[in-house]
Amino acid sequence: PYDLLVVGAGPAGAAAAIYAARKGIRTGLVADRFGGQVMDTVGIENFISVKATEGPKLVANLEQHVLDYDIDVMTAQKAGKLSRKELVEIELESGATLKSRSVVLATGARWRELNVPGEHQYRGKGVAYCPHCDGPLFKGKKVAVIGGGNSGIEAAIDLAGIVEHVTVLEFGDSLRADEVLQRKARSMKNIDIVTRAQTTEVLGDGQRVTGLRYTDRASGDSHDVALAGIFVQIGLIPNTEWLKGDIELSRHGEIEINSRGETSVPGVFAAGDVTTVPFKQIIISMGAGATAALGAFDYLIRESVE
Ligand code: FAD
Repeated sequence: PYDLLVVGAGPAGAAAAIYAARKGIRTGLVADRFGGQVMDTVGIENFISVKATEGPKLVANLEQHVLDYDIDVMTAQKAGKLSRKELVEIELESGATLKSRSVVLATGARWRELNVPGEHQYRGKGVAYCPHCDGPLFKGKKVAVIGGGNSGIEAAIDLAGIVEHVTVLEFGDSLRADEVLQRKARSMKNIDIVTRAQTTEVLGDGQRVTGLRYTDRASGDSHDVALAGIFVQIGLIPNTEWLKGDIELSRHGEIEINSRGETSVPGVFAAGDVTTVPFKQIIISMGAGATAALGAFDYLIRESVE
């Protein structure tokens, strides 16, 4: 068996594996795809100490760093079930079972998409999902935020300080964000809020986003809005479907962890976007991966005394 098995090879999983291997313990890293969400990212300008890079470049560096250590790397493998027996067992969808004295879960999350024409074509060319990451690219321009929940209204307030104008489009009859956020957004002169708006298409010129089309669900009329950017804020879905019932999850499906990365299952730790951590970023995920690996190491040295 492994001493530590990491599930997921995004920033959190890679960091956890490196920290574990540096302790000289038997480390495995199993993942569907090396790099996780970073593989889908175009420009990265907030990875501190690197002024600007690109997703696939950062992933290549991450992979090189991991391969520099004695880590058993297994990619193109999906975990399907976790169980705690004498050891922690991870059943793969391929049918194999991996056993380990401790586990770090770092399976990340995925943004809920609009599923409208143009969204994929203009991803990274005006269609964005992360205001902390891409907000500054739209300085002085007009953008829309789709989604009137807490993350949408937070994004609108954040962006309003950078861009020229923000239009918030909410599908429902009213915003779902906390009252205090709604009040703040309504007080800002460069935010407009449109409710009952169903986005139907991302418009572009072949190179970049030029606007979007939405249907007013009250009147049935279609409207076009000219924009440089569209921030989709309709939810981040943690990759925890396979863990339901076996580990404590929040009502949003995120793995509950404490400050040491411990979950509700002894010997099982978690890190990154898959957890209840309030902010989802590369640098934060890496720190969380390191924390979870050190938490697991602490657990292992205590366990072996018994
Ligand atoms: P992920 O990166 O999601 O990695 C999850 C890993 O788990 C992957 O290896 C995946 O294959 C694997 N996995 C999932 N399910 C299973 C399973 N069942 N079995 C086995 N393996 C599994 N952050 C920034 O800091 N700066 C940015 O500029 C930035 N831009 C972004 C742009 C886009 C388009 C997106 C989508 C995100 C962006 N982010 C950015 C956010 C950042 O990518 C994430 O916060 C970060 O990747 C989270 O790392 P993670 O390791 O927790 O999870």
